Amino acid sequence: MSSQNNKDRLVFVPLGGSGEIGMNLNLYGYGPEGKEKWIIVDLGVTFGDASTPGVEVIMPDPEFIAARADDLLGIVLTHAHEDHMGALAAFWPQLPVPVYATPFTMYLVRDRLAEAGLLDQVPLHEVPLSGHISLGPFEMELVTLTHSIPEPNALLIRTPAGLVLHTGDWKIDPDPLIGSPTDAQALMDAGEEGILAMVCDSTNVFTEGEAGSEAGVRDELIKLVGEQEGRVAVAAFASNVARLQTAVEAAEHNGRMVCLVGRSMHRMMGAARHVGLFANAKPFIDEEEAAALPKKDVLYLCTGSQGEPRAALSRIASGSHRHVKLSPGDSVLFSSRVIPGNEKSIFALQNALASAGVNVIGEKERHIHVSGHPCRDELRQMYAWARPKIAIPVHGERRHLIEHAKLARDLQVPHGFAPRNGDMIMLSDAGAELVDEVPNGRIHRDGNVLTRADSGALRERKKLAFAGAISVAVAVDDAGYIHSGPEANLFGMAEPAGGFDAVIETLCDAAQKAIENMPKRSRGDERATEEAVLQAVRRLAPRIWGKRPHVDVLILPL
Ligand SMILES: [Zn+2]
Ligand SMILES: [Zn+2]
Repeated sequence: MSSQNNKDRLVFVPLGGSGEIGMNLNLYGYGPEGKEKWIIVDLGVTFGDASTPGVEVIMPDPEFIAARADDLLGIVLTHAHEDHMGALAAFWPQLPVPVYATPFTMYLVRDRLAEAGLLDQVPLHEVPLSGHISLGPFEMELVTLTHSIPEPNALLIRTPAGLVLHTGDWKIDPDPLIGSPTDAQALMDAGEEGILAMVCDSTNVFTEGEAGSEAGVRDELIKLVGEQEGRVAVAAFASNVARLQTAVEAAEHNGRMVCLVGRSMHRMMGAARHVGLFANAKPFIDEEEAAALPKKDVLYLCTGSQGEPRAALSRIASGSHRHVKLSPGDSVLFSSRVIPGNEKSIFALQNALASAGVNVIGEKERHIHVSGHPCRDELRQMYAWARPKIAIPVHGERRHLIEHAKLARDLQVPHGFAPRNGDMIMLSDAGAELVDEVPNGRIHRDGNVLTRADSGALRERKKLAFAGAISVAVAVDDAGYIHSGPEANLFGMAEPAGGFDAVIETLCDAAQKAIENMPKRSRGDERATEEAVLQAVRRLAPRIWGKRPHVDVLILPL
């Protein structure tokens, strides 16, 4: 090893969140090459869609850091969104180190760990807002920002190689309704001290201007609720506690009682009350009480704004919710954005509501939502405060990261690097240098099983979904004579013109002929018989259906 390689260095390695909006997993390493000490900043999930049938939760592959768990000092969570903390319980057993978070986040972490039966095993360190965390060569200081959940923190990470500002998720809301406004002083002080690198949120880099303040939403929502004659349901992300506060104020202003609907609403309200929020709110009513009140006296606060099929609002829309019914003249206010990819399920939900005579009002019609991420003017402001030598855009798809790097260049940041998951980037006064590429990937939670996304299970499942399957079973003796069967079953195959019985007979005939026509020397050989039937059915299927279904052959030896 050359003397160069024994020098201490600071590296940044994103394993998730650089190339997608979701499943953030960031590593910082400090020390000689190969002997670094590590910290994890955030450990989140992303959600499956139509391209991942049967897989709802997707996580970054932690293999690289799990293999270095002995040198891992701790896990720091910037805030409580799923894309930043949702994978903690799944991966902590492989990454058995202390976890650091502020009180609101920690309340939800405890909830999750308890669910996973890990609560008494994980060393949890609750850090106050603006608090400090000291882990080996990393001296960290939390900086309070504003976002769409209570207690969003940036991290100032001091290392012997320089100071890194890891922003986490943020916007600049001068009037966030709950929590403190952005701690601009701490950011300016750090800028004065000299920031080597800023690792920064890219979500809204394509949007000019500013995300807008929660206070504006409050004014509009109060007005809008006042215009409604029937029941009102406000659909919002449960984690957007300021929005829940806004909806509660809109209800109180208009003489309506608030009823929470949906498990995560209750969970988040628990976390909010834990940190002293909603202390002065009128008590909420339950679903049965709400059903008994005049329509004009109720405001439901519901989960399910993205059309999630099992969430409260979908069940209300389909009329299958036990206590909450909406009827013609009632209104649903979507105080949330359409997350790309969710359009179909959201529009299906809104169509179902409209069919039932319910008014549907969204952010396009009225100003009842603001984003929690910085638009271009806010990014410009952050760069003006921080003045980093190196810009590292994260929390974005590839196009967001490239655009953000371009913006930073325009703002005279001397160095920039738009990372890909798995890049190991050395940060020094000379700039950002790609020094290695480490194992990375996606892990699917498939039912109860964690499996690599590239394991093949999903590819096979998609093939089945597209083309269906044929199974053929036949019992054959040692000499290769058929004793019973063949029998065939079809799964997910369309019925051809001649009918199912006829096509099954055709398939069985083909299988039988294939066995009878086998060369003498291989007759009775299980594998060879299986192969012969497989080939015969595979040849036949495209001629019948015009597609290639999965074929499964079962030879039962006697
Ligand atoms: Zn995020
Ligand atoms: Zn967030």
